[in-house]
Amino acid sequence: MREGGLEAPFRRPLDWENPDFTDEAMLDAEMRRVLDICHGCRRCFNLCDSFPRLFDLVDESPKGELETVASKDFKQIVDACTLCDMCFLTKCPYVPPHEFDLDFPHLMLRYRAVEAKKNGVARADRELAETDRNGALATKLAPLANWTTDRAHKTARNVLEKVAGLHHEAVLPKYSGKTLEALAKETPVEVNRAAPGFGRKAVIYATCFGEYNNPAVGLAARAVLAKNGVETKIVHPHCCGMPLLEQGLIGEVAASAKKVAAAFEPFIDEGYDVIALVPSCALMLKFEWPLIVTDDAKVKKLAQSTFDLSEYVVGVARKEGMAEGLAPIEGGVAFHVSCHSRAQNIGQKGAELLRLVPQADVQVIERCSGHGGAWGYKTQNFTTALKVGKPVARSAAGAGKRYLVSECPLSGPHIEQGVERLGGEEPKPELLTHPIELLARAYGLV
Ligand code: SF4
Ligand code: SF4
Repeated sequence: MREGGLEAPFRRPLDWENPDFTDEAMLDAEMRRVLDICHGCRRCFNLCDSFPRLFDLVDESPKGELETVASKDFKQIVDACTLCDMCFLTKCPYVPPHEFDLDFPHLMLRYRAVEAKKNGVARADRELAETDRNGALATKLAPLANWTTDRAHKTARNVLEKVAGLHHEAVLPKYSGKTLEALAKETPVEVNRAAPGFGRKAVIYATCFGEYNNPAVGLAARAVLAKNGVETKIVHPHCCGMPLLEQGLIGEVAASAKKVAAAFEPFIDEGYDVIALVPSCALMLKFEWPLIVTDDAKVKKLAQSTFDLSEYVVGVARKEGMAEGLAPIEGGVAFHVSCHSRAQNIGQKGAELLRLVPQADVQVIERCSGHGGAWGYKTQNFTTALKVGKPVARSAAGAGKRYLVSECPLSGPHIEQGVERLGGEEPKPELLTHPIELLARAYGLV
């Protein structure tokens, strides 16, 4: 819950096509205006590394004032931002409609857009952001890709660190030998006509992670939904563009938005809801795209028709009720609420989903894991990512539960890695990629 502010906060569209948006002098003036407010406020001191870097820069400057900080030093503040949105969503009393009109994450994004325009994006970062191309290739060569990225293969990881800037100790996602769309075609499911939710139709947006890395999440979602009477289709028209957004390539995100929205429109017109498997992708479809592409009816329609996976399943439970057949699962769950789940402003839907399991013992951890998309893998960020995520790792380890679950597919392994580094003799929790996997187990579907 936000501190202070009585009126409902809102976000302004990103004015990225206006030449003023990338005017360096105007950006510098806006950075100075906002950073000065933040330095006086300091509410966000413990959210990430951006704010401590800002406060140290100012406090250690010759006069202890922002005016004696060189503009070139702002880059280190921007570089530490993972675009998690937590400062905007949970702390800042100065967001619109407040007269200060402050949107810190979008200012960080603007800075990156200016950098990208001026200097281009580093080759390695640009290549990493091509998630569809990389995923399609790595899926075909999954054994080789997975061997290369395995932390046990130190030489390969050192080479990867040199060429791609990925820290040699960071756990990287594995690739599946088959895409989610292909697996779904091979293994049809039968819709339970006796379920209270029978009659619903939903198209599942596989997302890059679901399509190429871990199809188990999409298959579990489809199985649980079929059990609950929901007819589903699985599609992956294109990446949502979050990795491009992280690089400040807003124009390319806009192109992705238009492409994906056009692909989903026929489904929406036939009465299908849209479900995104990954919270960051749901956030893009629901909130970021309409702020970037303001004049496309298909983008707007998609935003209004999209649900986060947990949000959708909890919606079925609340409106129609769940199908029978859920059995208790022993051992309890430490559940991490990802920042991009929180940023959707839908409440703790993942925890609600887990509590659909009879006698569920769920401990919620609502704090940033520190990973921040591809940001946390990078050589220059990995140590900071572990530092920021340490309180979450401590909570997960201290919970003493059998399972560790995060809705964010990158946060989960990062937290697991943090737990591993804490050491200790206690048994480590089993990591699940999404709460839907526990629900599928409770139904005996996987
Ligand atoms: S968006 Fe997240 S990482 Fe970026 S400044 Fe705000 S809290 Fe920090
Ligand atoms: S983003 Fe808002 S709440 Fe956070 S330090 Fe700046 S002014 Fe304060």
